[in-house]
Amino acid sequence: MAVLSQSSQTRPIEGAGDLAGTTVHVIGAGMVGVCTALELQARGALVTLLDRREPGRETSWGNAGVIARSSLVPLNNPSLWRSLPGLLGNRRAALRYDLRYLLKNPGWALGFLANARASTFHETTQALDGLIRLSIDIHRERIAEVGQLHRLSDAGWLTLYRSETGYARARSFHEVMTAFGVDTVTLSRADLTDLEPSLKPVFDRALWVRDSLSVDDPGAIVAAYAGRFAQAGGQIVRAEVTGIRNDGDAVKLSCADGDELTCGRAVICLGPWARDLVERMGCKVPLGYERGYHRHFCGGVGAAPNSGLQRPVHDSAGGYVLSPMARGLRLSTGVELSARDAVPNPSQMDQAERAARQAIDLGEAIDPECWLGSRPTLPDSRPAIGPMPKATNVWASFGHQHIGFSTGPGSARLLADLMEGRTPPIPAAPFRPDRFIRAR
Ligand SMILES: Cc1cc2nc3c(=O)[nH]c(=O)nc-3n(C[C@H](O)[C@H](O)[C@H](O)COP(=O)(O)OP(=O)(O)OC[C@H]3O[C@@H](n4cnc5c(N)ncnc54)[C@H](O)[C@@H]3O)c2cc1C
Repeated sequence: MAVLSQSSQTRPIEGAGDLAGTTVHVIGAGMVGVCTALELQARGALVTLLDRREPGRETSWGNAGVIARSSLVPLNNPSLWRSLPGLLGNRRAALRYDLRYLLKNPGWALGFLANARASTFHETTQALDGLIRLSIDIHRERIAEVGQLHRLSDAGWLTLYRSETGYARARSFHEVMTAFGVDTVTLSRADLTDLEPSLKPVFDRALWVRDSLSVDDPGAIVAAYAGRFAQAGGQIVRAEVTGIRNDGDAVKLSCADGDELTCGRAVICLGPWARDLVERMGCKVPLGYERGYHRHFCGGVGAAPNSGLQRPVHDSAGGYVLSPMARGLRLSTGVELSARDAVPNPSQMDQAERAARQAIDLGEAIDPECWLGSRPTLPDSRPAIGPMPKATNVWASFGHQHIGFSTGPGSARLLADLMEGRTPPIPAAPFRPDRFIRAR
């Protein structure tokens, strides 16, 4: 067992040590799991990647494709308190909620609100900034390595403001960007028209975040990373994991088809499904679901896909993100706080579509129905990365809220360093799983 030398981690981590030759099962093949598998493989572990579907077909497929340097401000930031009265009416496109869901999950709901306080927010922005910066560098290298540079844009992304007042209200957000050295430029209405001529003149101001990247098919990027893992000898196995337990030095995984798999160490990378497995292990975790929808549009009559918008845009008043994708314009909604598996509610997407039509020639819908996914969020909006409490040799990397597509690579590097007992490049303490996961 190795001892961590990092100052923020004073106790040795049980089960940490050299990964070379160790069998590791990574459970879940979204962006987080695939990056974890690649990182552990690079360190000499014998890695098997388990998923009930093909890699990258769930949340990591349906997101807005932004690798956002600026996404260090979570939804539960100090301004949430101020906006609360306006949100209670449950009519805003940016945030909807199902009251029954919140009442059934008071631990998460109250914790989420309480963690909007300034002191936690300060720690969270510091922690997320480190994770994002680490991840962007790795993504750049890896996307090139897997031959997907044609999917990558480094044109940044834009937050759009329909009025000077809206822009002024976002001042605290802009101050955070400046404090963390994010490369932003404020655009006037005329500057915006020059940069994005396909947008209609309904925005008085915009903030251009220049050091962000985006991709035109997030699922294809995850699949390409998974392909790289397999090429290098990694095993990808289709399995639905239903249980996990220690058996001496080994970890045993039970699967829905009755199979039992044995490994030296296991990593839970199940995104919005992590809570199910963690609860079956006899622990509690207050993981909430910030659901979001998307739908593709052809971008104007006769328009070729991708012909208008040059970069993703976030309409702050409209409460949606519009991303130029290989399939067309992907319109993604804001947050719906609701049970992960509750039936979809079309009203938020309808509202986003109406707002987007005011801003751009959206054209016909390409998809017959909306896609629905869940951003998995812990009460302080930081993922859980590190050893699982009460289970030796079982590790966690989940709860990546709005930024899991961006931060998969950095999370993997942090986790692999912790698993090996090395000092990670960013502090691990803000991400410790035991800040929320408890034995029942
Ligand atoms: C509308 C929307 C827009 C978003 N936009 C962005 C964005 O622009 N940029 C960004 O960085 N992030 C964005 N996100 C967030 C991001 O998509 C998530 O944080 C990220 O995809 C989470 O990745 P993951 O690997 O943890 O989970 P997932 O991608 O969901 O992977 C979990 C995997 O676990 C598998 N699984 C589930 N149960 C089992 C089981 N029992 N056994 C085996 N396998 C199982 C699933 O099949 C799945 O493949 C967005 C999210 C939404 C909903």
